Amino acid sequence: MTSSLFLEQARAIVGEQRVLTDAHDTDIYQRDWRGRYKGSALAVILPASQSEVVAIVKLCNQFDFAIVPQGGNTGLVGGAVAKETSRPTILLNVSRLNRVIEIDTQNNSMTVEAGCILANVRTIAEENKRLFPMLLGSVGSCEIGGLVSTNAGGTGVLRWGNMRELVLGLEVVLADGTVWNGLRALRKDNTGYDLKQLFIGAEGTLGIITSVVLKLFPRVDNTATAMVALGGVSEAVDLLRMMQSTLGNRIEAFEIMSRSQIEIVLAHGNGLTAPMSMDSLWYVLIEIADSDKDWDASGQLEAVLGQAMEQELVSDAVIATDQGKANRIWDLRHHVSECNKKAGFTVSNDTSVPISKLPEFIDKVTARIAAEIPAATLCHVGHMGDGNIHEVVVLSRAAYPTPEACEDVAARVNLLVHEESVALNGSISAEHGIGKMHVERLVRFKPALDLQLMQGIKSVFDPKRLMNPGTIFVGA
Ligand SMILES: Cc1cc2nc3c(=O)[nH]c(=O)nc-3n(C[C@H](O)[C@H](O)[C@H](O)COP(=O)(O)OP(=O)(O)OC[C@H]3O[C@@H](n4cnc5c(N)ncnc54)[C@H](O)[C@@H]3O)c2cc1C
Repeated sequence: MTSSLFLEQARAIVGEQRVLTDAHDTDIYQRDWRGRYKGSALAVILPASQSEVVAIVKLCNQFDFAIVPQGGNTGLVGGAVAKETSRPTILLNVSRLNRVIEIDTQNNSMTVEAGCILANVRTIAEENKRLFPMLLGSVGSCEIGGLVSTNAGGTGVLRWGNMRELVLGLEVVLADGTVWNGLRALRKDNTGYDLKQLFIGAEGTLGIITSVVLKLFPRVDNTATAMVALGGVSEAVDLLRMMQSTLGNRIEAFEIMSRSQIEIVLAHGNGLTAPMSMDSLWYVLIEIADSDKDWDASGQLEAVLGQAMEQELVSDAVIATDQGKANRIWDLRHHVSECNKKAGFTVSNDTSVPISKLPEFIDKVTARIAAEIPAATLCHVGHMGDGNIHEVVVLSRAAYPTPEACEDVAARVNLLVHEESVALNGSISAEHGIGKMHVERLVRFKPALDLQLMQGIKSVFDPKRLMNPGTIFVGA
């Protein structure tokens, strides 16, 4: 009765077609990208404006219903699906808030609604002779509000920073329906606490982001891309340092992939091919870029890689001679998640350690997986320039035929990887967030005082605990 009254009033706000309750219509929203979580929301609601979001949030307050914000639903930790709780939950998908509000090329900023897809934002920036540098494998589906809420990383963090560094302002509908207007385009503003930073990375637990002011940059069109073979991770760390001292901040991306990972991409990537022989255990994908058209990008890359070969850091390298070849190199990296999904049951981790500790971390994880997890293929892939490595274990369907067997071993793999990263002063989640996947792990590894302060912030912004129950915090 309460639910039907709620739905009737929600339909009056957003329209009959924008309140979905039929399983056939809601399935795509209620299931996470990896297929690990199935949500239990009463309805999926699709508002088209900030005022509709406000009205729905106020309605939820009136009925004491919980709210899970959702963007492109590409998150990898189950943050955008509704957990079963004692009270009804609605999934508030903001994809229809997809207008570009303003582009200020003199201020190098762009104001967009939260439902804008990253690929579209990048294209519009480019049409205005600017760059919005965030780039990740889900570029065609993930949305700005989701990227902000997860403080997403991607392949460009080394040069441009993660989402936290790319946001100038935010507008947020708070848990009680009040609008917090922090939609400013300032690069300097020391007027007390920087409140926007609290919402960045909050995974929808403090409010619903409706608009964002993004930082733009001059385009850096003069690029060179290479794929490099090396003997080990230590050599990759040395190569990164050598390149940084020669090229400064022109290194756009520095991504590491083990051969085992590339082999999975080649097997499941629908025609993707390797541009070089696969006889090394480790590969690094590199892009350097500058806005100066006269700068010899390929020549510079060739020179530094030649020097690295003389010092026996690099055994082989291929430099892309045109954009098509560069794209083919990057396709290997950007199809990782999709191909791993096809390869079997994958357990993926998102850890970071200080870059200097990466070789030790990888050695320890490799040894423990070999000793403790039978019939597992271990792949390493990640944003090496940020110390962020994804330790991916692919379990063969023959050895682990049931979901229960997979879940059990997944828990063992995660614990082992997290233990090794924390032992080296690392993080259990470098860029994907906590979501529903790591809530218990957070309690185990985050210092008690940190958790207490986080709970305090949650109580200020969401005293009724309506926002995204079960995400970041255990329980409702
Ligand atoms: C192929 C692939 C590659 C990926 N590569 C990377 C990578 O390299 N780096 C990386 O960091 N991530 C990566 N991801 C993860 C994912 O794309 C990012 O986390 C992205 O930021 C999620 O955006 P989304 O719009 O899909 O958010 P969703 O999945 O819809 O939501 C993610 C979280 O944000 C919250 N949220 C969403 N919108 C809002 C809003 N408007 N207001 C408040 N809260 C909101 C949700 O409640 C949820 O907790 C990858 C995912 C895939 C599928």
